[in-house]
Amino acid sequence: MLSRHTEDLNFTMEHPTHTNLYTKYSSCTTNSSKNSVIRSLTRRAYNLCSPQHLDSELQTVRHICLLNGFPPQRITSIMEETKTTPPPDLTPHTIYEISCLDCTSTYNGQTYRPLIHRMKEHERCHRLNNAYDKTLDKVKSATAHHSLTTGHRIAWNDINILKSLPSRAYLDLTEQAAIHIRNPSMNRTDSAPKCSSLWNPILPKIAATLKPTPSGIDEEKYFFRVLSYLGGQNFGQNFVKCNPLGGFAASLTLSNWSNRRAA
Ligand SMILES: [Zn+2]
Repeated sequence: MLSRHTEDLNFTMEHPTHTNLYTKYSSCTTNSSKNSVIRSLTRRAYNLCSPQHLDSELQTVRHICLLNGFPPQRITSIMEETKTTPPPDLTPHTIYEISCLDCTSTYNGQTYRPLIHRMKEHERCHRLNNAYDKTLDKVKSATAHHSLTTGHRIAWNDINILKSLPSRAYLDLTEQAAIHIRNPSMNRTDSAPKCSSLWNPILPKIAATLKPTPSGIDEEKYFFRVLSYLGGQNFGQNFVKCNPLGGFAASLTLSNWSNRRAA
């Protein structure tokens, strides 16, 4: 339900005609599909409700699950574990900022996938020296292109999240606000804007909500990729999980690997 009080729009999950009937706890199905009822209702509340309605919505979720026969203890434990938000580098629908270590240039971009995946692509373009795609006449990574053409170092360990959004629908507009108002010099100015100029009057208001916060991405996060590259899929993750000195060993592997490439 969408309601309007003064200037603010409020979102709640009320639906007057809904019967509150979901997969019953007594139904003959797997535990994981039963648990997913609680998990998806909780996640929906966190993703869509306005903060002032969140508590009452969570009460409603609990009530609905009880009506469908779920044991109270299971409802509590699954709602608790769903509440924990993913780490920032795994958050999807993000507007991010990458800086240059050797000049004041910055780059603002968007991704609908976990941020770490996009960062690996930028970093791969830089490492393999293919930031510019000749066949498509297109720059695949403006940051890698900046670094490769100027020789500057990119702050791969200091990537900021400007804003995490609830869905993919807001990405284009928020990115346009970031580029239009913050004016990051690594972004290309010749590419067509993704949104109509009709939005321009509210861009400053959107840009005012952008706050650089550390993404938590550091070299160790890239190790998974390097180790996976050396030992095959999932190798990196298993290696660090099984090894008590995972991070340290991984850093040695990374430096060996860089030396080998340089040689
Ligand atoms: Zn630079």
